[in-house]
Amino acid sequence: MSIKANDPARISWLPVPPQSDFPIQNIPFGVFLTRDDVITIGTRIGDTAIDLGALHQLGYFNDIPLTDDIFLQDSLNDFISDGKKTWRSVRNRIAELFDKDNGELQHQDAHKKIILFDLDEIEMQLPVHIGDYTDFYSSREHATNVGKMFRDPENALLPNWLHLPVGYHGRSSTIVPSGTPVRRPYGQLLPRGSEEPVFGPSTRVDFELEMAFITTDANKMGEPIPVAEAEDYIFGLVLFNDWSARDIQKWEYVPLGPFLAKSFASSISPWIVTLDALEPFRVASPDQHPQPLPYLKQDGPRSFDIHLEVGLIPENGSENTICRSNFKHMYWTMAQQLAHHTVNGCKINSGDMMGSGTISGKTEDSFGSMLELAWMGTKPVALNNGETRTFVEDMDTVVMRGFCHDNGLRIGFGEVRSQLLPALPADRFQR
Ligand code: CA
Repeated sequence: MSIKANDPARISWLPVPPQSDFPIQNIPFGVFLTRDDVITIGTRIGDTAIDLGALHQLGYFNDIPLTDDIFLQDSLNDFISDGKKTWRSVRNRIAELFDKDNGELQHQDAHKKIILFDLDEIEMQLPVHIGDYTDFYSSREHATNVGKMFRDPENALLPNWLHLPVGYHGRSSTIVPSGTPVRRPYGQLLPRGSEEPVFGPSTRVDFELEMAFITTDANKMGEPIPVAEAEDYIFGLVLFNDWSARDIQKWEYVPLGPFLAKSFASSISPWIVTLDALEPFRVASPDQHPQPLPYLKQDGPRSFDIHLEVGLIPENGSENTICRSNFKHMYWTMAQQLAHHTVNGCKINSGDMMGSGTISGKTEDSFGSMLELAWMGTKPVALNNGETRTFVEDMDTVVMRGFCHDNGLRIGFGEVRSQLLPALPADRFQR
């Protein structure tokens, strides 16, 4: 089935502001609470949210085999389970219905009142029930930078790194949508020069600029997903801020990897942009030397040209763009990550989320964490209000944005925005 929804010439009868991330060619999926306190699955064109549950009840999807309640749910998991053919049919139908040359809904004022919402009338929710969350570590530049700082500049990459997409299993329970504040965590810290840890609030809270992909049911336990098929099981992507406490991390991570330094919060953008919508922005992935083992070998362009930015807003100040990076820098592709994840027979479910790992580029202004931007505190980042930062401070807001653009077509993710709140008072931990 062709992706008619991607037709770059199509114009919607809904208004789309210039530079919007959400033209009619995007058609992302999300879950929102309406002005009537109803939870529904929806999409967005320009600054208008569209209630897909209401659209379906009014008969606008009658030609697509869908269960009656597929959109009247508090998560996209069942819709994602229906598979790529359904996602594609629904996106194509939405594109057709909101095309300026189509009058079916355009002239039904009573229906439009039920289906359409201004963004300030809705509240975005987590789009999926995330059963399992895995975080990779797939940017060569990021892994090299961290290896230089934490270990040995001469041998920054560990021996396995160029042979497999390194990852770990994270917690899904503390993944929250954009707008949810995050509290500075407590934990065990090892003061410089000391051999005994102390307990206290982290003083090195950091963001990690990542993207995450969301899967559909893909395999039975015991069966791998071949790398050539892996993209068929990827529904779409979100922006992902994987909050990290570097001091907790440094003390706890040996030998099993990150634990409490990561599980206090990760923030995502609420609209899932489908892999289908990103098709026009496919690009070659970086050359891989040594050659990967056969089960990780792939053909064709498997990366996506997605511009990424991080903004930091201090409590008394305006936004500072402190990083510009790109998803295409990733050494290991999503297809390779999913093939590797399942090569042992690990089962993947609908709504699972896979983080890319921090996405750093080659230049110093493209590093995707404060750890790298301020080089472990040695090169403070100057802000436009005269302050500097080595890590994120209380009441700072971190905003991540992502968008593709080419020949006048722009497909974006909106933003993930979250504010860091001060740590709880210390007496909360006294016994
Ligand atoms: Ca991470």
